[in-house]
Amino acid sequence: MGKIVATDEFTRALAYANSALSLLKRGEVPPFPQFYELFYTYATGVNPSLNERINSILGDGVPRMEVVESLYNEFLKSEAIDERITSVSELMSKNIGSVHNAIHSASETAKTYSGSLKDANTALCGDMDATTLRTLTQQLLEKTANMQATNAKLEKSLDNAREDVEGLQKNLEEVQRQSMTDSLTKIYNRKFFDQHISKSMTDATETGTPLCLVMADIDHFKSFNDTFGHQTGDQVLRLVAMTMRSNTRGSDLACRYGGEEFVLILPDTSLNQAVMLSNKIRKAIQGKELLKRSTNEKLGRITSSFGVAIMRPGDTDVSLIERADAALYAAKRNGRNRVIAENDKIMQKSNAA
Ligand code: GH3
Ligand code: MG
Ligand code: MG
Repeated sequence: MGKIVATDEFTRALAYANSALSLLKRGEVPPFPQFYELFYTYATGVNPSLNERINSILGDGVPRMEVVESLYNEFLKSEAIDERITSVSELMSKNIGSVHNAIHSASETAKTYSGSLKDANTALCGDMDATTLRTLTQQLLEKTANMQATNAKLEKSLDNAREDVEGLQKNLEEVQRQSMTDSLTKIYNRKFFDQHISKSMTDATETGTPLCLVMADIDHFKSFNDTFGHQTGDQVLRLVAMTMRSNTRGSDLACRYGGEEFVLILPDTSLNQAVMLSNKIRKAIQGKELLKRSTNEKLGRITSSFGVAIMRPGDTDVSLIERADAALYAAKRNGRNRVIAENDKIMQKSNAA
């Protein structure tokens, strides 16, 4: 199955490929497909946390084979999230177990020590010659040294535990990041959207800034799949996701809502601005002439429809999504390949009907 690329994507893809290869060369990493994929992903910049990590490694020198391998495993190998959660929690409970043991043994030693002090106290109350006194003092010194050694062990063990917990925390953040990412397109998934929409709405209310929601859906995608195959369809989904990402700013959230539907959360954006942005993305998608690279077969172009809504006082996530969805539906009914906002005349007509 050959990858498909739009003609204007070809030059960019070539640049990504060159950049990936030069990174492999720099680190003397063998150009195995998975390492190439890692650096190619880096070059596209679709995975910000991967880029952040590689950038920090590049700051310290070149990424070597071992590092590259572990990055690949961490970021790209599709290890089941459940497995990672299990291994993290196993590590966590082992860790807690060893801290518990260390504290237990330190407290046992402290009990013995306090017992020895009591004994010594009783002995000191009676008459005592110099030799007995020296023996007693020596015993106490020994016990004190024991006690110090145990405390030092405990301290070391707590230190290790703290480091482990920090590591685990990073690991959990990574698992969480993965669970919020759509595995096909690498943009945010539905779960992320569901968890973030309310927060975005609260933030907008608190800051008194406008918030827009855009629902987008690829036109006639079923027939595209039927004609060119599901895998080619998957590549188109990646292309659309990439187009959304590259046309939005950092505070915008582009998510795959499901199937061939996407949603954009646009903070601090007016309805007009959201419509303009949607049109820009719509044109960018339509502008890509799709080619199957292996055969140079022309796959034509795809189009997409957009519905835009702006948050109103009293809105819930459900009511806001509903209005964006209704606008998307109107865009579909009125010929597709268009952007309709909730205040569009067409909407008033369909509301009255
Ligand atoms: P409309 O213009 O009305 O949106 O028509 P449509 O064909 O795009 O809509 P419909 O809901 O009938 O079909 C959506 C299609 O999207 C069905 C399925 O083939 C395709 N699709 C959904 N998820 C995926 C996916 O993950 N990969 C691929 N390749 N196709 C998908
Ligand atoms: Mg569709
Ligand atoms: Mg759909």
